[in-house]
Amino acid sequence: MDETHSDRLTEWHAPTHWQAVDFISDLHLQAADPCTFAVWRRFLQRSVAQRADALCILGDLFEVWVGDDVLQAAAPHSPRAQEDRPFWRDCAAALQAYSQHTPVFFMHGNRDFLLGAQALNRCGMQALTDPTVLVFLGQRWLLSHGDALCLDDTDYMQFRATVRQTAWQQAFLARPLDERETIAHELRQQSQARKAQAAGDPTLWADVDGPAARTWLERSGCHTLIHGHTHRPARHDLGAGLQRVVLSDWDLNAQPPRAEVLRLDAQGLHRQALTC
Ligand code: MN
Repeated sequence: MDETHSDRLTEWHAPTHWQAVDFISDLHLQAADPCTFAVWRRFLQRSVAQRADALCILGDLFEVWVGDDVLQAAAPHSPRAQEDRPFWRDCAAALQAYSQHTPVFFMHGNRDFLLGAQALNRCGMQALTDPTVLVFLGQRWLLSHGDALCLDDTDYMQFRATVRQTAWQQAFLARPLDERETIAHELRQQSQARKAQAAGDPTLWADVDGPAARTWLERSGCHTLIHGHTHRPARHDLGAGLQRVVLSDWDLNAQPPRAEVLRLDAQGLHRQALTC
């Protein structure tokens, strides 16, 4: 969101009968992590009485998304694709079942920005623009994945500007699926190597730019920004009654394991930890 885009800010008015909304992000679901998938599937199997009126996924639900055709394509010969493609279909089926009783909203993250209309439909999800103003309980809540605010990570911001262009996406999606899977695999390996390098030095981790977050809040007329992406769950006071609330990522293999739902209701925001 910048000066030129602020007049196009998407407002989403929650139905007046809604009493609670659940937020999750950064699950990074992948076939190689059955533990996180199992906890997530159990969360989706909650009874309607335990659920909020809506589930909002603020990006990076999937570790990677190389095109909606992963849900259709027949299992190829490569072992990676044989494991991955049925996994994406299982994810879609779990979401579709949940959405039969509870609406599910999805905002793209930097991992799953290629998730398209076909996959949204298959998963029973409705797309949310990044950022979106949710008008709920008489207040305005600004929702974002968060990566667009990590201004210090200039390499990533440049990459983001490229891959969010329609022309780049069309060219990428026109490549054969096997090739896209291989490219994504290589990019993930590079990203993991960078993360391992940064692990020992917290100053190398990109974080949301405080002044930029304040500007977004002021321009949108919101008091609270809810976002994910940074994997650093916290509440940051930005002064003047403004705050940003960061969602947790989900990693059931980490020590201690992390998985959290943020629920917003008339009592405010509450974090709920999920366990194996
Ligand atoms: Mn992210």
